[in-house]
This record gives sequence, C-alpha cells and structure tokens, in this order.
Amino acid sequence: MADVAASARAKDAARRTGTQRQVRPTDQPPEGATHPGARPQLSFSVPRRGKAPSHLADLSLAERKSALKEAGLPAFRADQISRHYFGHLTAAASDMTDLPAASREALVGELLPQLVSPVRVLTADKGATLKHLWSLHDGVRVESVLMGYRDRTTLCVSSQAGCGMACPFCATGQMGLTRNLSTAEIVEQVRIAAAASRDGDLTTGPARLSNIVFMGMGEPLANYKAVLGAVRRLTAPVPEGFGMSARSITVSTVGLVPAIRKLAGEGIPVRLAVSLHAPDDDLRNDLIPINSRWKVPELLDAAYDYFEATGRRVSIEYALIKDMNDHQWRAQLLADELLSRGRGWAHVNPIPLNPTPGSIWTASEPDVMETFVETLRSAGIATTIRDTRGSDIDGACGQLATEVLQQERERL
Ligand code: SAH
Repeated sequence: MADVAASARAKDAARRTGTQRQVRPTDQPPEGATHPGARPQLSFSVPRRGKAPSHLADLSLAERKSALKEAGLPAFRADQISRHYFGHLTAAASDMTDLPAASREALVGELLPQLVSPVRVLTADKGATLKHLWSLHDGVRVESVLMGYRDRTTLCVSSQAGCGMACPFCATGQMGLTRNLSTAEIVEQVRIAAAASRDGDLTTGPARLSNIVFMGMGEPLANYKAVLGAVRRLTAPVPEGFGMSARSITVSTVGLVPAIRKLAGEGIPVRLAVSLHAPDDDLRNDLIPINSRWKVPELLDAAYDYFEATGRRVSIEYALIKDMNDHQWRAQLLADELLSRGRGWAHVNPIPLNPTPGSIWTASEPDVMETFVETLRSAGIATTIRDTRGSDIDGACGQLATEVLQQERERL
C-alpha cells in the first residue's frame, strides 16, 4: 500500500516539476523602485540616531540598585519601583503610593520615561487580535500584535524599527532599517500588552500574557544585545522581570548563523524559529538575501546544533508563495535536508503568504498547500500550518506602519 501511495506521490511530483511554473523573487521590482532592477539592500549598518532615553527595564536589578545609590537614593527604591513595573504592570507615578509623595513624580520620570505612545489600535478576529502601532521617543513607528487563543495569549513584538534584511516578500523588508530598539522599548511593548490582556481588552484567551514571539518588525538577532536583555527581563522573576517562562518565548531569525550559535550558548531555552522559506540555495539566495552569506546547509547545521544544545525543537517557518517555493519537490528536499541531520528535531510551520500591497505574488492554492504539507508529513516531519491572524488589519509584518505612513503622507 505504502509503495503505491509513494509512487503516486512521485508521479505527482514529476507532473508538478514538469508543469508548475517557477516564479522568481526577482520578477518584481520592490515598492517605490525607480528602475526595474532596483532591490532593497541587505544592510548591517545601523543608522546613527539618538538612542532611546535609558529606562529601568534596560537594567538588571543589581544595576538599578547601583544607579539609585549613585544618584544618592536608597537602593530599596529599585525593588519598590520594579515591583510596580514588572509585577503590577504600571509605569504611572500615581499608582506608586509607597514612594515618598514629594519625590514620586521626579523619581518615576527619571526611571520610567515614556518610551512608546500609541498611534493607532486596531482589532480583528472578533476582538481576539489587537494590533498596536507605536510611536517611539523620536517619532519612529513600530508595531506589536496581541493574539488571544483558547489556551494561550501571545504577543508578537518588534525588535527593530524597519529591517536591514531586505526580504522582498516582507513589508518591513521594503522599508530598510531605521534603528535598533533598546531593551526597554521591547520590554515596554510587553508590559503594555500584558496589562491590556489582564484588563480584558481581548475577547478570547487567558488574561495572563503567556507567550512572546519576536516576529514583529526587525531581525532580532541583528539587535542581539538589546533582544537578549529583553529576554532576560521577560524571564527573570518579579521584581527583576516579568517571570515568564523562557520556553514560551520564540526568537525568529532569517538565519544569522554566528548569532544562532551564540544564543545556543546563553543557557536560556527560548524556542528558535528559522525563516527558511526555501530548501535550495538557488531560490533562497533571492528570497532571503542574507543567504548569500550563510547558505542553507550551514544554517540548518546551526539550527540542529541549537536543538542539541537546548533540547528545544526548532521551528522552520515557510511562507508558501504561489509557484515560487511551493513545489512538491521542494517539500521533499526540505524533508530530506531535515532528516539528514536527525529525526524529530524540527517542526515545519508553513504559512500562506500574506501579500504586501502591490505585490504580484500571492499565497499558494489550497490543494498545492495540502500536497506540500502531506509530503512533509509522509516523510515523518511534524508540520502545522500557522494561522494568519489579523490579515484583515494588515497583520503581516510592517504592513500597518507602511499603510499609516502613506495615509499621513497623503494628508500633507
Ligand atoms: N526577521 C525575523 C522576524 C520577523 S518576520 C525573521 O525573518 O524570522 C516573522 C516571520 O514572518 C518570518 O518568518 C517572516 O519570513 C514572515 N513574513 C514576513 N512577511 C511575510 C508575509 N508577507 N507573509 C507571510 N509571512 C511573512
């Protein structure tokens, strides 16, 4: 029986390989291109911009204590303010009645400067998804998305304003990198979302924010220090941090191999997600420009070693793009690449492409998607189609920021 099914699949593969079109990422110039060959540039250089004001959440508890001591204040104030911030999720001086009334405002103004202000809030999925567009101290915009599920409440956070990785199918990739976020700018997204969730702003899901995914704007591993600082604040117990489980935090990357290896050595068992999107270098070179630096085999080796070091199964992200990367032979090649390194160490998450405005590319057809998933599963690879929350509110990475920027430009 199995043989018959396998041969049917092979025939199907042959048919598809022979007939299915091969669309290339280079077929379309990026949004706003001035000539057809223009492409967003892969860039590691971080533009020089004013740093965010320093904030309590940038520091460990010990650092907060010494900062207060240096300012001539008692170190135990660090505990008090940290408890308000990380335990009660508030940054308002008026909530901190255990601080001396005369100096409360000044102390809070100094330690908890306002780093993020809401520009727009949108709800989707009957109130189970809440998307925030934030303005930072210098007017730069970033997004975060809060999603309530039956068994968990998840926040998707941004780690950079814009992104330097230039992936052509991603709205943030088209913007280029504006700047890195500070640790506290990341932590603030989490605190505000955790308070919103506790206060019943979502219609679905537990009130306690349980999961964080670094899948908003930016490449988290290109802002390693600030992201790691944020992970430490998220996982440290109150009053040092929020006391979340590292296991419920996912760091998603295009594949910065040295940073993956460094993360594996930190002793924090966060989940690693690798945005693979193609199992062959030929296509991935164009789809994920950083592939010109670290190739698929090298990336999968680093991902496998991450699993070995942490015991955490790695997620392989795969946006299914019609006729570009959804061929059955690619599903089989992906399975072969994963299996050649071992069994059960990776889990594939295909997600239908959420096309960016003006894109000629679109999501794969349902039957093609099914064949892709089935090919992986038959090869013994755990595969789950990821949900597309908030696609009606420009849920895909960077789309809301781009949309609002356009509206504002039109108004000028
Ligand atoms: N830079 C990191 C994290 C941010 S993007 C990374 O690339 O992993 C989070 C995920 O959304 C990545 O897997 C990314 O490839 C995917 N993504 C970006 N644009 C998308 C789109 N238009 N449709 C579907 N997934 C998209």
